[in-house]
Amino acid sequence: MFKSIKWRLTAIFFGVTALFLFLLGFYLMTTMEQYLYDRTHEKLVSYAKLMADNIKEDFSRGAGREYFDSYAHEAQKDISARVTVIDANGRVMGDSIVDKDTMVNHANRPEIQEALRNEIGKDIRYSSSTGKRMIYFAVPVKKDSQIFGVVRVAVPWSEIEAGQNHIRWSIGTAVLVALILTVLVVSSFTSTLVVPLQEMTRVAKEMAEGRLDSNVNVKAKDEIGTLGSGLNYMAQRLRDTISQITEERNKVSAILTSMNDGVIAIDRNGNILLINPAIERMFHIKYETSLGKSVIEVVRNFDLERLLHRALVSKEPITRELQVFTPDPKTFRVSTAPLTNETGVVGVVAVMRDITAFREVERMKADFVANVSHELRTPLTSIKGFVETLLDGALQEPETARHFLEIINDEADRLNRLIGDLLSLSRIEAKQGEIHKTPVDLEKLIYNVVSVLSPQANEKNLALNVHIKKPLPTIKVDSDMIGQLMINLVDNAIKYTPEGGTVDIMAVSERDGVKVAVKDTGIGISRESIPRLFERFYRVDKARSREMGGTGLGLAIVKHILEVHGGTIDVESRVGAGSTFTFFLPGGSR
Ligand code: ADP
Repeated sequence: MFKSIKWRLTAIFFGVTALFLFLLGFYLMTTMEQYLYDRTHEKLVSYAKLMADNIKEDFSRGAGREYFDSYAHEAQKDISARVTVIDANGRVMGDSIVDKDTMVNHANRPEIQEALRNEIGKDIRYSSSTGKRMIYFAVPVKKDSQIFGVVRVAVPWSEIEAGQNHIRWSIGTAVLVALILTVLVVSSFTSTLVVPLQEMTRVAKEMAEGRLDSNVNVKAKDEIGTLGSGLNYMAQRLRDTISQITEERNKVSAILTSMNDGVIAIDRNGNILLINPAIERMFHIKYETSLGKSVIEVVRNFDLERLLHRALVSKEPITRELQVFTPDPKTFRVSTAPLTNETGVVGVVAVMRDITAFREVERMKADFVANVSHELRTPLTSIKGFVETLLDGALQEPETARHFLEIINDEADRLNRLIGDLLSLSRIEAKQGEIHKTPVDLEKLIYNVVSVLSPQANEKNLALNVHIKKPLPTIKVDSDMIGQLMINLVDNAIKYTPEGGTVDIMAVSERDGVKVAVKDTGIGISRESIPRLFERFYRVDKARSREMGGTGLGLAIVKHILEVHGGTIDVESRVGAGSTFTFFLPGGSR
């Protein structure tokens, strides 16, 4: 409590005031007591003088003791003090309180001796005749320079003490009241000084704790008021600055958060300063637990650690491609840049771009070109071989020549189909997102496909059945593409089903689209091959596919057509038991 400035100020004021009041009280008490004593002294001495003057004639005419005794009694009534009359020999002539005859000779009493020496006698002592401590004053009774006797007046000392006590009590009470008033006045004065200071202390504390919305409510126009306004102004400036910084930080944070590229910053010692959510996802780590740790500890990738270290040492921007297991192997292009401030390089920031898909596309393109070249070369080699044989003389043998020319024709057909399929594929890929959709009657489309492929089915003695659960919705699709999709699936079913088998085409309305299944009782597909069926040029059995005139592109085309329509496809198959290709096309409307 006494740490508070309010109580310290009050204590100082109180202490100083108390000291002054005490000294003043002490001085007043002594002065007043002295004054009281002097007044009693003067009063009693003048009474005694007056009486001495009164009775000097009585002494000179030789009045008796009875006279003086009654005079003493009468005088006491007027002056309220004991009166004693004594002759020049010390014999008590009369006393207002004690019987004169019982009183001994008073010649040896100090005050009497002094009075007989023509002085004013005074003494304070215990009186055995009254049983009290008394103060005595004695004056001579003299006429024409002859001393006849002494008049003595006395009052109990306790009367003077009572007066003194009264003075002490009054002054003591006044001092106490003054002290209490001092405390009250001083504490209310210090309050007006200290309350605004306490308010400012509270606000400053809140500001230090980060609560900048508090304001000091100081109305005074003095120095304290100015201090309060200064504090409010400072809080306002801090609020503005912090909101600016927060805004900037939020912008940076929003950019870092929305980036697909990973951003990682390290300090001079290789410890992580910052990572963005993309890095968190890439390496399955958490921002909070990664800060301040070393790269190798958090990311566990030696190549990345070495690259960042090299960037730190070289102080130059570096760009590298890195393989990172996340745990899937992924390829990143990492670009580093030194982080600098006025003291120089303080760290490195690296941006990591996942280029796995890009590399994969590049690889697929290269594979595709290789595959296409290979697929084209096979029939061409064959054609060229037979043409050369013909030119070498086989032309002379009409039978052989005819056989060779038929082969050449087949191979040319195959080339034609291959190029046709490649063109279809590239057309669909090119059309991605901008296909020409029209309302299509799927039932009609299915029957068209059946009529196109019936000759092939008949040739192999296959039953080609259509099961449509009516009503089918009209769907908005690219009819040429869906026609091709159906032909590819049904053509495959016919190709890979041995003689005497069955091919069923089923269609049913489902959710907001149509589900179509092409089911055969053919050779089936092994479980391992199913995931690869839709790859370009993938064939389960290359020789059989070639024999059937397949290009290996049919299902790739199917997949692409479904992709551009937002559809899906599913394959169920068992080797030797047949296959079912089921696809779903959205976009139905009744
Ligand atoms: P292809 O021109 O060789 O038929 P596709 O892309 O149409 O090429 O089919 C890829 C491979 O999938 C085929 O080579 C074949 O091995 C297998 N396949 C496709 N449809 C069927 C089916 N209905 N029954 C069995 N195998 C099939």
